[in-house]
Amino acid sequence: MIVDCHSHIMEYPGHLSEEFVREANARSRGKSLDLHTPPEKHWKAMHNVDRVIVFGMRAFHSGFVTPNEYIAEYANRYPEKVIGFAGVDPLRDNVQETLEHAFDRLKLKGLKLGPIYQNIHPTDQRMMEIYEFCRARKIPIMIHQGTTFPRRAPLKYSLPILLEDVAFQFPDLRMVIAHLGHPWIEDTLVLIRKQPNLYSDISALHYRPWQFYQALILAKEYGVLNKLLFGSDYPFTSPDATIRALRNFNQIAEGTNLPRLEAGEIEALIHAPTLDYLGLQ
Ligand SMILES: [Zn+2]
Repeated sequence: MIVDCHSHIMEYPGHLSEEFVREANARSRGKSLDLHTPPEKHWKAMHNVDRVIVFGMRAFHSGFVTPNEYIAEYANRYPEKVIGFAGVDPLRDNVQETLEHAFDRLKLKGLKLGPIYQNIHPTDQRMMEIYEFCRARKIPIMIHQGTTFPRRAPLKYSLPILLEDVAFQFPDLRMVIAHLGHPWIEDTLVLIRKQPNLYSDISALHYRPWQFYQALILAKEYGVLNKLLFGSDYPFTSPDATIRALRNFNQIAEGTNLPRLEAGEIEALIHAPTLDYLGLQ
């Protein structure tokens, strides 16, 4: 089974500020991004995956705000395939009310957080209350620790290592660090190596081939390939392109003695048991 653990739906205009879209395009390696990706487009792009986790973001600070109802409407329409994750802005939303509504009424299955987008330290008391809510209800969290493009998004809140204190306090909480915490990929790998309930996804990395290559080889060397989850970060890239990049992974080492991944290791990553790991069966 292939599970895409990281994908977005969003409306533009509607869920994204003009500034957000302008900055996304300015840093998109010369290709113009179509960020207007409603459920119909998302559904088509997911033709070759069996299950897909979909979310938006609630980050008023960064101009990226998706209604939880929007995610739930799509997820509840295709419950056999689409798994909806909620969002909550710890600075702007009524956290308790938003979370109860998202999980009790909207039946969302996990939570997406992004401290760098939300302008909050990941161990701020308001974040700790969110983790406690999720721990108590066994709700998995996808957390964007790692850089991102908006100028006003503070890097100091995005270091993956900051999640160590969260894992110390909530050892049973299942969390996925998005995008291997890039560019702090080594930090992410050593963190997930010693925290059993921390995982990371490989989404949105393959279009930086040298970083992608080093990331997965390092993951193998640290013995944590089995803690990496397959994900695309659609619409920034797609499951198709990500699977292709993984299956062509060793091309970069052709004609050299550089280390490689085995075909079995690559297929195991594409078919990572994400639903088991996150308790989403
Ligand atoms: Zn994403």
